[in-house]
Amino acid sequence: MIHENGRIVDIAIIGAGPGGMASAIEAKLAGTENIIVIDKAPHHNDMIHKFYKKGKRVDKDWMGIKFEFTGNVSFEECSKEEYIDQMDEKLKAAGVLDKFEYNHEIMRVEKGEDGLFSIVYGMEGVSERLESIKAKNVILSVGRMGKPNRPRYKFPKEIKQVLNFNLSKVQNGEHVMVVGGGDTAGEYAYGLVEMEGMEDCVVTLNYRKAEITRMNPINTEMCMKYLDNGKMINKMGVDVESVEAGEERAVKVNFTDGTSCEYDRVVYALGGTTPKDILVNSGVKTGEWDVPVYDEKTFETNVEGLYTIGDVVTDQGSIALAFNHASDAIKSIASKLK
Ligand SMILES: Cc1cc2nc3c(=O)[nH]c(=O)nc-3n(C[C@H](O)[C@H](O)[C@H](O)COP(=O)(O)OP(=O)(O)OC[C@H]3O[C@@H](n4cnc5c(N)ncnc54)[C@H](O)[C@@H]3O)c2cc1C
Repeated sequence: MIHENGRIVDIAIIGAGPGGMASAIEAKLAGTENIIVIDKAPHHNDMIHKFYKKGKRVDKDWMGIKFEFTGNVSFEECSKEEYIDQMDEKLKAAGVLDKFEYNHEIMRVEKGEDGLFSIVYGMEGVSERLESIKAKNVILSVGRMGKPNRPRYKFPKEIKQVLNFNLSKVQNGEHVMVVGGGDTAGEYAYGLVEMEGMEDCVVTLNYRKAEITRMNPINTEMCMKYLDNGKMINKMGVDVESVEAGEERAVKVNFTDGTSCEYDRVVYALGGTTPKDILVNSGVKTGEWDVPVYDEKTFETNVEGLYTIGDVVTDQGSIALAFNHASDAIKSIASKLK
């Protein structure tokens, strides 16, 4: 479909996470069927596939913030796997599954003199323009996890493969230190303690503050339980100064209090940054902390017809919030298409 010649779509949606997926359903319900959804991954909701641990509970009020669904798309709280099934069902029921195109990484969109957007994909130096498709409107819903935050110190080349940003490479029996103080760090740390098949892992939680202050009540309670009963090792109240190759285990972590410990793996959960490149390269102005400048009611950016929703525009994103943004952006686009 992506190579169908001369096609002009009403909306090109970049990113098939909660924001992009809900945009496709909302568009269909608003009577706009001529759309395309493009994602670099081989399936929708890739961030959830990749970064949520097996069996994770998907909360509606994520990070303790209460949400009401304001659009047509909602979800029932359930496990990660059930959530993905629910989304499959919703996309099927809305009849939009055939609008999704996978395995295309978009680098930027360019508004031409004809007022239509061209879509540029590929890698720097070998980028290719999708000459075949142009879009009247674009929704960028590319999330933040493309570029997880990294610590300020260097990752030595020889140990890079054991310095990770999610749990996917952890092996049973490893000594793993999780770094971070938010919900993701908490869920990684206690999730690993509880994970089936990982019973022999030794998990340490490292956070620069001595107290857990940024996790929701459930995650705080779970972490405290395992820190208190010794199933999780407490290395809080101290920051990491540097990492280097270890002698007994792969990584030697040097802390700011002069101590050091060795681990088989370090997993960083320090949040993610706005994927600034695709925004800036598409002409979107960004303000403080790289957050795009956009209309808070419609989510339209300074480039007319170019919208941005979901995690890209908030540092406290959630699935419900991304669904609600999608509803507002589609309302704005649908009213213009009439
Ligand atoms: C470990 C963890 C646990 C969480 N738990 C919860 C929870 O329980 N409840 C909750 O509500 N929220 C939770 N969140 C937050 C929630 O997952 C996000 O707020 C939500 O996924 C944001 O949706 P999005 O569509 O904005 O972005 P994303 O879900 O990040 O989706 C972005 C999509 O864009 C694609 N993409 C990126 N760049 C490009 C490109 N250049 N070209 C093409 N495609 C691209 C990606 O492949 C991805 O599919 C959690 C987050 C994490 C990390």
